[in-house]
Amino acid sequence: MTIRNRIALQFSLIVASILIVFSVLIYLVSATYRREEFYDRLKNKARTTVRFLIEVKEVDRELLKIIDRNTLTALIDEKVLIFDAKNRLIYSSVDDQVIYFKATLLDEVRQKKEIETFSGHNELIGLLYRQNGRDLVVLASAYDQFGKSKLENLRLTLGWGLLAGIGITIGLGIFFAGQSLQPISQINQQVSTITASNLQQRLDEGNRQDEIARLAMNFNDVMHRLYQAFEQQRSFVSHASHELRTPLAALKSEIQLGLRRPLTAPESEEILTNLLSDTDRLIGLTNSLLLLARTLETSNQVSFQSIRVDDVVFLAKDELVSAKPNYRIAIDYSNIPETETETLVKANESLLKQVLLNLFDNACKYSSDHTAQVRISTDSQYCRIAIQDKGIGMSEHDQAHIFEPFYRSTNALNYQGFGIGLSICAKLIELHHGTMTVNSQLGEGSTFTVSLPHL
Ligand code: ADP
Repeated sequence: MTIRNRIALQFSLIVASILIVFSVLIYLVSATYRREEFYDRLKNKARTTVRFLIEVKEVDRELLKIIDRNTLTALIDEKVLIFDAKNRLIYSSVDDQVIYFKATLLDEVRQKKEIETFSGHNELIGLLYRQNGRDLVVLASAYDQFGKSKLENLRLTLGWGLLAGIGITIGLGIFFAGQSLQPISQINQQVSTITASNLQQRLDEGNRQDEIARLAMNFNDVMHRLYQAFEQQRSFVSHASHELRTPLAALKSEIQLGLRRPLTAPESEEILTNLLSDTDRLIGLTNSLLLLARTLETSNQVSFQSIRVDDVVFLAKDELVSAKPNYRIAIDYSNIPETETETLVKANESLLKQVLLNLFDNACKYSSDHTAQVRISTDSQYCRIAIQDKGIGMSEHDQAHIFEPFYRSTNALNYQGFGIGLSICAKLIELHHGTMTVNSQLGEGSTFTVSLPHL
């Protein structure tokens, strides 16, 4: 069942139940009121008749019958019977009909003094009338044709009104549910036209206020992120193939050169040396690509422990300096916080070390003095590691792009590298819920700052 029909059905059921309850209530109240009113009329009739008969000397039975039959207020099928204490009928307003009555009914009237009951489809009341020690039982019965036909009219009116009301409610329910779900159908239509080739298409965000507009806005956000991821993937593949093609083309031309004519021993050595360096570059590049792929792949299975940032800084420094002895990492001890706990962060030691190694390596690589200044500081929320160098620096434009895979600034092209390290670092820091920023001046140097939330 569609949501539109479900809403319309629920709405109709609620309104129909309310209408039914009200109609039944109105009918029951009217029926009770009619009955009570009719019994009152019967009582008055019974009292008047017995008073005329007993108290007014001038009125005898025959006259009373005539009066009874000819009063304007005479009721349909009206009968008034008066019995004495021995159940003898002393007056009957009708004489051409056989009159049945039960002795038990008369006894009940004597007992209760007044009863309201039915006789066939007529209403009947019984009254005990006492005068001068005489107990008379008066029974009056009649058919309330006027009241019942009014009630019948009411029943018909309520029944048809109910049917019409339910019909109108269903119609309105379907119409309004359709109206309010219209924007969803539109969104549905727009979404069905989005394919991999037009990921840039966005949904109409309407008034940007209601729930459906917010759904469209959220969907657009997701589409934007998907588009970015898609674009990154595309540029990654094209960059990776480009980077691989250059050393492979160099390898090919070296080999072609070697095959062109017989080589002397020094020439062969030179060609082999070049081949070796190109192969090394290829291996380095493939390793970096593998590392990037693994970082993305395993990022959700990494285990975190509480570790001290200064310990990891020292570990990274030792590892880099022993691999590249001409590099110098100067750690500024003056800012290291006094209490141990201030440098405690939740991190994966080997991944954090990999980030620091990369940043230290870059700082030394891109500066003529091969020196990096490292400062550790803390504030109420973060533990910060700033890596500063006095190297080649970079322009503002480069600063905005260096965290993208394969991006290298033009002034760095003479230095060895693939432009992958910083993008891996950025992903790893993101994994640690931290941030990495760069502040640099072209030709003067750069400062990379890693901020990690401390415990
Ligand atoms: P690689 O150093 O292998 O090129 P990275 O991803 O580590 O790759 O760095 C990306 C780019 O950012 C570098 O090519 C360079 O242009 C710039 N860069 C990174 N660190 C520095 C630095 N300390 N000084 C100047 N430029 C830097």
